[in-house]
Amino acid sequence: MTRTGIGYDLHRLVSGRNFILGGVRIPFEMGPAGHSDGDVLSHAICDALLGAAGMGDIGSHFPDSDPKWKDASSLLFLSEVLRQMTLSSLRITHVDAIVVAERPKLGPYFPSIRECLARTLALSADQINLKAKTHEGLGAIGRGEAIASYAIVTLEG
Ligand code: MG
Repeated sequence: MTRTGIGYDLHRLVSGRNFILGGVRIPFEMGPAGHSDGDVLSHAICDALLGAAGMGDIGSHFPDSDPKWKDASSLLFLSEVLRQMTLSSLRITHVDAIVVAERPKLGPYFPSIRECLARTLALSADQINLKAKTHEGLGAIGRGEAIASYAIVTLEG
């Protein structure tokens, strides 16, 4: 059976935080606020995986009230979800995601982000597609105050 899941996340951008996206650190003067590393792309993919697997959402699996996840790499969330999915004989076939940010320019980092996510999810990089969008200067994202991500995943199992 083919299953699909959708995920979305948004974090405020603040100074004094590393800018981590898809597990890759990108040089920038601000970074996503959050209990974990605030990696919106990993969080959106995580929620999409959980949705497709019928396993709830990221907040119930990795609550931000749990000190265990303080400043944690969000790749850990992906690894853990993958582990649970594998126990249920679910296999990821494809990930497609959009990252919405006014700055920095993300496209140049996509090859390394795809490699990093592929390693974490036991996929090949060509099973992960990434797209970057700006918010055309509009709203909080357009003012550079936030970053968001949308993801859709397809599973078989
Ligand atoms: Mg998040």
